Amino acid sequence: MPRPPRAARAPHGHRGFIPFCVPYTDRREVEGAAQAIRSGWLTTGPRVSRFESAVRRSVGARHAVAVNSCTAAMHLSLAARGIKEGDEVITSPYTFAATGEAILYLRARPVFADIISATLNIDPHAVERAVTRRTRAIVPVHIAGLPCDMDPLLDIARRHRLAIIEDAAHALGAVYGGRPIGSLSDATCLSFYATKNLATGEGGMVTLNDREMADRIRRLSLHGLSRDAWKRYTRAGSWRYDVVELGYKYNMTDVAAAIGLAQLSKFRDMQAKRLRLARRYCALLGQSDTYELPTELPGSTHAWHLYVLRLRSGVLRIERDRLLHLLRARGIGASVHFLPLHLHSFYRRTFGYTAGAFPRTEAESARALSLPLYPGLSTRAQDRVVEVLLDLAERHRR
Ligand SMILES: *Cc1c(COP(=O)(O)O)cnc(C)c1O
Repeated sequence: MPRPPRAARAPHGHRGFIPFCVPYTDRREVEGAAQAIRSGWLTTGPRVSRFESAVRRSVGARHAVAVNSCTAAMHLSLAARGIKEGDEVITSPYTFAATGEAILYLRARPVFADIISATLNIDPHAVERAVTRRTRAIVPVHIAGLPCDMDPLLDIARRHRLAIIEDAAHALGAVYGGRPIGSLSDATCLSFYATKNLATGEGGMVTLNDREMADRIRRLSLHGLSRDAWKRYTRAGSWRYDVVELGYKYNMTDVAAAIGLAQLSKFRDMQAKRLRLARRYCALLGQSDTYELPTELPGSTHAWHLYVLRLRSGVLRIERDRLLHLLRARGIGASVHFLPLHLHSFYRRTFGYTAGAFPRTEAESARALSLPLYPGLSTRAQDRVVEVLLDLAERHRR
């Protein structure tokens, strides 16, 4: 047995600061990337194909197309379903900028449906109410890695003939009702951004079951070139290519795929570590009257991309922002996921949104804070996070 490689050292030593996120990399990623470079094949090639097959199999989908971000994955999935100017796409305002962008790139209109407070995920009843005759798709976001309630959403989609394109940037490894996220809907979009559960720096993938849609997404990801165009530098390829439609430049590199393959080889262990740490936070913070713990859903597996704690209102004299500031001052890199999308200045200016438009999203966002959570987080560091949280709760009690 080779000695298990040591993970990249978390920079905890730096004046005792506990970072919000540290990638879990070791010599396997370094070797994989080095081999890709030595092979002379830097961009889309054999490692991308292998990475696609491995991810596709891990989520039980028939097809997978690797791209350079989850944003690109969502853009192309919506494009491949024919979303165009004037169409409406229903999504959650409790999300990152990327979700709205993918819709807006196609000149379609993002229509927000409020969340369920307990889960922070889109409320299927609100989705149903938001459907109009212009609605073409739903983009559910599995916040923090907790699956959305997919059955009612799939039912709404079936009844109104809508596409479902999942923003699963947080949800690789999540399971809904025994079925892995990645195989349930028209297309599932994954992110391999540096902070995500499986990280390649930049990267993304669409997993799906429809062959034609997969082919279209692949074509759109590389300038709209005829199907085997990327093979034109291989022995099997031809120098001739045809631009079949207007495409984009969204393909993944083999260097990124090599890092992804290394990450995937230890993904189970990484997820087990996240789960253990999440449960440990719950156990250590469960007695506090100040903090509300994240929920899990029976029958679902949480991917634990984020550990989102909520501040119970009325307990402390300070607000969430002040608490975050004090945590940082005490060496803890906590963060917020997410500010309501509709309240960013671009959305206010473009669509005229004001505070109060999506009250549940706004209320939960205002009291949410994400704690450090990553496979390399030591229990000692975690104890420190909890100790400071409990100490601040005592000091600033009303
Ligand atoms: C990170 C993230 C994305 C975007 O992922 P990229 O790979 O960086 O494009 C999309 N949606 C959510 C909810 C995210 O957190």
